[in-house]
Amino acid sequence: MTTIATTNPATGEVEKTFDALTDEEVDRRIARAAQTFASYRTTDVAQRAEWMNAAADILDRESEQVAAMMTTEMGKTLKAAGAEAQKCAKACRYYAAHAEEFLADRRPAGADAVGARDAYVRYQPLGPVLAVMPWNFPLWQVIRFAAPGLMAGNVGLLKHSSNVPQTAVFLEDLFRRAGFPEGAFQTLLISSSKVERVLRDPRVKAATLTGSEPAGRSVASIAGSEVKPSVLELGGSDPFVVMPSADIEAAARTATESRCLNNGQSCISAKRFIVDIGCADEFERLFVENMRAKRVGDPMDDATDVGPLVSEEGRAEVEEQVADAVAKGATVLCGGERPGGPGWFYPPTVISGVTPDMRMYHEEVFAPVASVFRVRGVSEAVEVANATGFGLGSNAWTRDDAERERFVRELDAGQVFVNGMVTSYPELPFGGTKRSGYGRELSAEGMHAFCNAKTVWVG
Ligand code: NAP
Repeated sequence: MTTIATTNPATGEVEKTFDALTDEEVDRRIARAAQTFASYRTTDVAQRAEWMNAAADILDRESEQVAAMMTTEMGKTLKAAGAEAQKCAKACRYYAAHAEEFLADRRPAGADAVGARDAYVRYQPLGPVLAVMPWNFPLWQVIRFAAPGLMAGNVGLLKHSSNVPQTAVFLEDLFRRAGFPEGAFQTLLISSSKVERVLRDPRVKAATLTGSEPAGRSVASIAGSEVKPSVLELGGSDPFVVMPSADIEAAARTATESRCLNNGQSCISAKRFIVDIGCADEFERLFVENMRAKRVGDPMDDATDVGPLVSEEGRAEVEEQVADAVAKGATVLCGGERPGGPGWFYPPTVISGVTPDMRMYHEEVFAPVASVFRVRGVSEAVEVANATGFGLGSNAWTRDDAERERFVRELDAGQVFVNGMVTSYPELPFGGTKRSGYGRELSAEGMHAFCNAKTVWVG
């Protein structure tokens, strides 16, 4: 069974362990969620918005402590953790401000011709939703479900990653302190083996999972067998295409930021750099230069760009992926060697000559390790970009209008960012295609994902 504990990735020390809830305790929490939902669903949106804004105020006020807690639990740099807390406050305020509009009755085009006095869609909450969440953005991943979910009138049950229990406990506390009723948002400190039991409980109405493909498959199949809706946000191996018409310096700078985001452990980090032969030498030189210049070290230090990987297993995994590529003929242009000393550090690394027989070609690399591919023209760039089972984000760098149109049309992904870095915004829908998952979070789509869009016909 997984231990529920805070283990500092910068030192390898276990700092705090937690007892998992017993089945009886879990059942009590599910009962409380169902009971709270019965009255919470009738609260008005303005009241929920007041509580949601109070949650944002707490996040702003306590962002330094919250950031230090996240850095200790999973190793992201303190400055990145602070930015994450602020982004969460912004998302809470966004949904507080826009829920009324997203939940308003909608009269679809032509609804006046269905023979009714009035016909419209009413968005109603589903009930207790189980959220199974990952450690990499331990606050953001939860808030991007919880803010729209709670504003829509659902209640939340959080099963967070076993290595971020303090953040998990903080989240329950955050919503309680903000004024939400007891039971509106609860944390279940349980191992992943207990997820099935919770999801099969008839009082739990839906599930959302952000995490790896195996976890997604498991939760989706349980939800499917119970005929409960689910949203899956899974892994990614985002392409980053660079054409000769692009601002190559800006592309190389953004490529570095994207690959090193969250110490290389972000689902929407660009991971495969697909560069036209006409600008490949220049891009590769600048990219390698920038990757080398990144400062790896203590995540609490303001001067650090890249902290440790989350765990010993995480580092062993990337070392195996790199060793496999090198054994089959790939070339390491920089990085590729773990530093000595404690903590699970791994340096920014660039690899060229990655071919389809290598693991790295097909698998997600969850570390600051980039593969660079050389292609000729847009068609080959799109072909290589789409030659993956994932379809989360995609980046295209070009200043040519016709090329831009082709990338927008042909890249098979949930989002395409042209001349910029794939980022999630509360204002824009977020999600994947293919094995990156289904459904959307954020914006109005994220809120409607856990609503009953009820058709109302009044004669
Ligand atoms: P993970 O191992 O799948 O864990 C995610 C969550 O699922 C954790 O709470 C985990 O609990 C639980 N879990 C694991 N196996 C499960 C199972 N068989 N049944 C039910 N629950 C299960 O993933 P991770 O290592 O935390 O996160 C990294 C992955 O998440 C990467 O692939 C990344 O790309 C993806 N991700 C995707 C997005 C997106 O928006 N698409 C965002 C961030 C991350 P335990 O910790 O107790 O095992």
